[in-house]
Amino acid sequence: MQNFTELNRKLPERRGSALRIKDYDEIYELFDKNDATAQSTRCIGCGDPYCHNKCPLHNYIPFWLKAIASKDFELAFKLSNETNPFPEITGRICPQDRLCEGDCTLNDFNKEAITIGAIETFISENGFKMGLKPEFPKPRIDKRIAIVGSGPAGISVATYLLRAGFRVDMYEKANRAGGLLTFGIPNFKLDKQVVFRRFEWLKEAGMRLFLNTEVGKDISFEKLEKYDAIFLGIGAEKSKTANLPNENSKGVFKAIEFLTNIQKKHFQDKYDKSFEVKDKNVIVIGGGDTAMDCLRTAIREGAKKVTCLYRRDLLNMPGSRKEFKNARDEGVNFEFNLSPKELIVQDGKIIGVLAQKTKLGQKDKNGRQKLEIIKGVTHKYKADVVIFALGFNNQTPDFLSQNGIETDKWGAIKADLKTMQTTTKGIYTGGDCQRGSDLAVTAAADGKLAAQNIIKNLT
Ligand code: SF4
Repeated sequence: MQNFTELNRKLPERRGSALRIKDYDEIYELFDKNDATAQSTRCIGCGDPYCHNKCPLHNYIPFWLKAIASKDFELAFKLSNETNPFPEITGRICPQDRLCEGDCTLNDFNKEAITIGAIETFISENGFKMGLKPEFPKPRIDKRIAIVGSGPAGISVATYLLRAGFRVDMYEKANRAGGLLTFGIPNFKLDKQVVFRRFEWLKEAGMRLFLNTEVGKDISFEKLEKYDAIFLGIGAEKSKTANLPNENSKGVFKAIEFLTNIQKKHFQDKYDKSFEVKDKNVIVIGGGDTAMDCLRTAIREGAKKVTCLYRRDLLNMPGSRKEFKNARDEGVNFEFNLSPKELIVQDGKIIGVLAQKTKLGQKDKNGRQKLEIIKGVTHKYKADVVIFALGFNNQTPDFLSQNGIETDKWGAIKADLKTMQTTTKGIYTGGDCQRGSDLAVTAAADGKLAAQNIIKNLT
């Protein structure tokens, strides 16, 4: 260990941009045993590991790095899968630069962080190749829990409940499981077979999965009252917009609708062809990871020109640096310090965006620089398609208020953050529907906490 003075950080090989934009395959190769072992030896094994503290799941990172460095792949697999319900997924999609790797002590020595995400993916994928699988006992507790929603929070709560011997039924309104992992994150970041493999194991462990079943529509909420507890992981799916005139014009999309329809196309399911962007000028408004996903999807769909308009500068852009660089390498044009002022429309159809120049001013009380418009400085961009990627709001199905489940002023479900129990006893929640749109890993952490409390309260 502590090999960081001799060995530099290395990421897994990445397919060249000219090649990778021709398909939707994942762009990163997996580490082989030699690279994973060598990269793990760079860890200095801090007494108080900041990476572990910063990881929302508090993964035992230095322990599994040590196990890999000493080639104990089975121990690393067990440690990694204990605290994390889907490590091969978080290793692929977490914004590590803002989480574990961002807090790696090596950054303070002017050395680059350990490649924690890539090693985390390797540990599971290598373990699967060795024949290892997440282990579940046979159901042994006569309690059945209903999980509404099959996204990351739902997968997490199901994993920990099944592991404790509970019986689990999961309800999903879509025709495929996985929520945003399946329909919101493009395949080039997360192969869908990786998501579906987790569901196969959960089903093998006894979970009953009901697809095409929307609670409140296909099945009433009252029908769930027979369960010993209910977990609501219904996400936050209402896309935010900028409240500009002409937002309902032809050619103006919301990020999640665009990504979902393109994903359905690749599943060869029925989809809305109006989301096709081939040979079009596409402008994406926003600077987070969902914006990067839209930009890179538009490139792969054969758009003529793809531009990102972001109102602050690169330094203040919320998307991960890795995703920004990947998007830029794939041909996305970035325009910073520009805020959309008007959508330009002709015959009801979008033809352009008028944006005004901005600058960053004084810091506010949270330390964030205020955005200031530079009066009179505008830029016009040609656009056949505009995609808003400005985050998500909560939807509030009627069954919430009808069952005493309170929401806050944004529509997020209120919960006791120590237990994840809602304002109605026996009903728990977590993920985006409770915290607002956030990461898969934070949803996984909520699901784990909710499961721990369900187990505590029912046994
Ligand atoms: Fe890092 Fe995410 Fe893995 Fe935690 S779950 S160790 S934050 S990649």
